[in-house]
Amino acid sequence: MMANNIQDIRTDFPILDREIDGTELVYLDNAATTQTPESVYEVFETYYREYNSNIHRGIHTLSHEASVAYEEAHDRLAQFIGAEGREELVFTKNTTESINLVAYGLGLRNLGPDDTIVTTEMEHHASLVTWQQIAELTGATIQFIRVTDDGHLDMEHANELIGPETAVLSVTHVSNVLGTVNPVAELAELAHDHDAYVVVDGAQSVPTRPVDVEEMDADFLAFSGHKMAGPTGIGCLYGKRRLLEEMDPFLYGGEMITHVTFDRSVWNDPPWKFEAGTPPIAEGIALAEAADYLDDIGMDRVREHEDRLAQYLLERLEARDDVTVYGPPSGEQRAGLVSFNVDGVHGHDMSSLLNDRGIAVRAGDHCTQPLHERLDIPGSVRASFYVYNTTDDIETLLDAIDDANAKRD
Ligand code: PLP
Repeated sequence: MMANNIQDIRTDFPILDREIDGTELVYLDNAATTQTPESVYEVFETYYREYNSNIHRGIHTLSHEASVAYEEAHDRLAQFIGAEGREELVFTKNTTESINLVAYGLGLRNLGPDDTIVTTEMEHHASLVTWQQIAELTGATIQFIRVTDDGHLDMEHANELIGPETAVLSVTHVSNVLGTVNPVAELAELAHDHDAYVVVDGAQSVPTRPVDVEEMDADFLAFSGHKMAGPTGIGCLYGKRRLLEEMDPFLYGGEMITHVTFDRSVWNDPPWKFEAGTPPIAEGIALAEAADYLDDIGMDRVREHEDRLAQYLLERLEARDDVTVYGPPSGEQRAGLVSFNVDGVHGHDMSSLLNDRGIAVRAGDHCTQPLHERLDIPGSVRASFYVYNTTDDIETLLDAIDDANAKRD
């Protein structure tokens, strides 16, 4: 995939020409934040040059233009994930805020001591810590679907845990450490059989593969702009329209109301009900451009490309006896990220040695401390790919790992 035009894609990302202390940058930290193509920041720049203005509050031309573009951006992102339209798509700050919005807007009012929140051992803190907090505030119980030694969710355990007391199932679609692609549609069906709400963390899936909320039947789906070639400061929450209508707001103030008296206020319709105050206008409009950029490549092709690079690195790392790789082995379905440790080298040291070679990876617990506890490791090194990465990048990484080892010997 993309082999024909990968060089064209690379030219869309001028940052890839950067050098780190005289060495060409090899950017393999995409699961944390992806780079942004020129077309996206051109939209940003045009906004500030030509129609920067607050939305919905003015009838002047700039405000009208900004409002229309910002509203249409909601439609564009809704379309990107197979939702019906803007009523189902809330702009937030990031995945973390999207999950908090559901947890507080829905969980706080509806959950109590008889309820169970089922989640998984592989959740990012964005969801794990948030639901932990809701459990504490409501008296609900939180339970974790086990992760098997080869990095899958233990579906037997899921079947045991999800039952009549389950009020919420919150699951990550793709693990940001293991690269596992979870069977969210199957889990959603199981949870819906017991009338539980299904919240999917799409931070690692929406940017890297075709995602369709109808197909997976998620009640909510959270994702971030900065992981899908868009700007920072913008994220999305998809919610089924009926649920967003029923839910409490999360933040209160201007824009999220239709009528206010000294006694009470009437909420606006979704999505505006959840977008209190001045929203991330330029970021939202630029994120719509990022969706266009990815759709131009084709999300099927993005997935194939990621898969190919992950398999390439996995096979080479698995062939070594000084490296431990976490998550499903090569040959299995995988997202485009690989976490590993090299014997005797602390992850932070490895990351720093790689940085000396211009290679950006991430080391640490990747905001999944309980998962690392489950894996019985303090941390790991993670290489993660996006549309502009090549097998040459992986070869550079492998050479640098060899050099790091040689230096140690
Ligand atoms: N969930 C997963 C699976 C992630 O990988 C991340 C980011 O690394 C998040 C949630 C949090 O995303 P953000 O920091 O954009 O809120």
